[in-house]
Amino acid sequence: MNIQTTTLSRRRFLQHTAVVAGALATVGRRVPATAAEIATQASATPSEPPRLLVNHVGFLPHGAKYFVVENPPAEEYTVARFVNRNGRVEFPTAWQGRLTRMDADLGPAWFGQFTDLREEGLYLVRCGDVQSRMIQVYRRLYDYPLRMLFNYFPSQRCGDSTTGYNAPCPLDDARRVDTPEHLDVTGGWHQSCDCRKWMLGTPYGLLGLTQLARTNRPRWDRGQIDGELRWGNRYFLKMIRPDGGVSHEYDLPPTALLMWVLGEMSSHHEA
Ligand SMILES: [Zn+2]
Repeated sequence: MNIQTTTLSRRRFLQHTAVVAGALATVGRRVPATAAEIATQASATPSEPPRLLVNHVGFLPHGAKYFVVENPPAEEYTVARFVNRNGRVEFPTAWQGRLTRMDADLGPAWFGQFTDLREEGLYLVRCGDVQSRMIQVYRRLYDYPLRMLFNYFPSQRCGDSTTGYNAPCPLDDARRVDTPEHLDVTGGWHQSCDCRKWMLGTPYGLLGLTQLARTNRPRWDRGQIDGELRWGNRYFLKMIRPDGGVSHEYDLPPTALLMWVLGEMSSHHEA
C-alpha cells in the first residue's frame, strides 16, 4: 500500500487556517536581512516599531534563554541585572551579545540568547532603545504556574462538591433513552461547557495530576492532589459499564439537544 504523507509546517498551517492574525502579520513582515540593514533601518523612520519578545514566565537557571527582536534597532544587545543596594537600584550589565538572523517557521527573525547566564535574579534585555519587561531566572519558576493549573481541577468539579464554581451541579444524571434505567454519572470535571458527561479528558487529567504529585510534590499540597485524583477516579469507575466497557460519553438525545440549543439562542436574543 502506498501511503502518502504531507508535512505541514507551522507557517503553512497558520497561512492556511488564518487563526493567528498576529502571526500572519509576522510572516508577511519585512525583516532586515543584514546588520547593515539594521543600521539603515534604525536611522530611517521604521515602518513598524521594534518589539522585543521574551518568555513572560521567565527561565530556569540551567535552561535555554532565548528572545526575539522584531525590527531590531541595533545588532548588539545587553542583559542587565536588577540590583538593589540598600535602596539604590542599579542595572549592571550581566551579559552582552549580538543578534543572529534565522529563518523560522513563522518567517525570518532576529534572536539573541543568554543561556549561560545562570545566576538567579531579575534581568532586563536591552537592544537599542527597546527593552524587555523584567525577566525572572529562578529555579522554582514553575511552582506558581503549576499551582494555578492544579487549581483549575477543584474549581471545575461537577456534581456535589464544595469546590466547584457551579456546585452543586445536576445531581440526578442520568436516565437512558432506550430504557428508563437511571445511571449515576455525577461527578468528574467540567470539560467543554456543554451538557455531556464525557470520559475523553478524564484520564489525561488523572495522569497529569499523578505526574504532578510524583515529580513535584509541592509543599502547599496537604492532600489536595490525592483528593482530586480520588474525585476523578470515582467518576471514571462510574463510567465502566457492567459488561466491562468504558462509556465514552452520555449525551442529551438529539431532540432534547436541539430544544436546548434553540432555548439558548432565544434567551440570547432576548438579552
Ligand atoms: Zn456540572
